[in-house]
Amino acid sequence: MASTSSALVRSVSAALVALAALCGCRGAKTPDAERPAPAGPEVEGTHAEVLENGARVVWLGDVDGDKLNPRSLFPEAPDSLFEALGLSDGVPSSMSAFLAEVDGEKVLFDAGLGAPAGRALARLEALGVSPDEIRTIYLTHFHADHVGGLVARDGDGAPSKVFRNAAVWACRAERDAWMNDIPDNALQKTVVELYGDSLRLFEYGDVLPHGVTALDAAGHTPGHAAFRLSNLLVAGDLMHGYALQKDHPEYNSGYDMDGPKSAESRARLLRLARENGLLVAGMHFPAPGFARP
Ligand SMILES: [Zn+2]
Repeated sequence: MASTSSALVRSVSAALVALAALCGCRGAKTPDAERPAPAGPEVEGTHAEVLENGARVVWLGDVDGDKLNPRSLFPEAPDSLFEALGLSDGVPSSMSAFLAEVDGEKVLFDAGLGAPAGRALARLEALGVSPDEIRTIYLTHFHADHVGGLVARDGDGAPSKVFRNAAVWACRAERDAWMNDIPDNALQKTVVELYGDSLRLFEYGDVLPHGVTALDAAGHTPGHAAFRLSNLLVAGDLMHGYALQKDHPEYNSGYDMDGPKSAESRARLLRLARENGLLVAGMHFPAPGFARP
């Protein structure tokens, strides 16, 4: 029976390949409606890893295709180093969020850019995960490419929650800085007002739901946080040019608000990752979003 059906599959596949060659559409992608759902780790723009505690973590690419962060983003690093590393045209990067499945629940680390440019929500849907299933969100910081995805807009631009059932965790220092000190904070004020009591504040060192520990990664922003879950380190925006900064944590990117603090956090957390053999998830690591420094 098994051999009959596999023979059938083989002949159907052969017929499809022949048909595709005839109509010149060989290699064309299967329309969404015809794809087996949910496709799990095979979904485009995603990549899954399993942690030592059994949790599954999935990279959600928030932009399509590859991205190069320009050499000019790292003004402190010398040209000779870029040449030696073969990075003169730029440093491979991405924009990303991460989904974790832990204790039978789905949690997010950051929410991406949001509509219209961000793809993270579409990746979730392609994985068969509805925004209403997300009960916990951990924010590394409040930049728009990390919190924009929390907010939906109607035709008149009126905001509403994307994740209606989620508690959203952020560092108290980050919330305070954006509410009191940082200009151009319209989006961040909207997030804080919309999520209201669902916004929960932590301090560095706190152990949060699902055994996630909040770590001091300050410098990129005043309350920038990293997270440890089992053997995973979610590094947020500690590195915008992984191939350059993994061995040269002293070089900041132009996005880092406090250079010296940022460099100190980067060196300290890279050391933590190396000493403990951690898998690192970076919001601007190149696809597929994970690295083992
Ligand atoms: Zn970012």
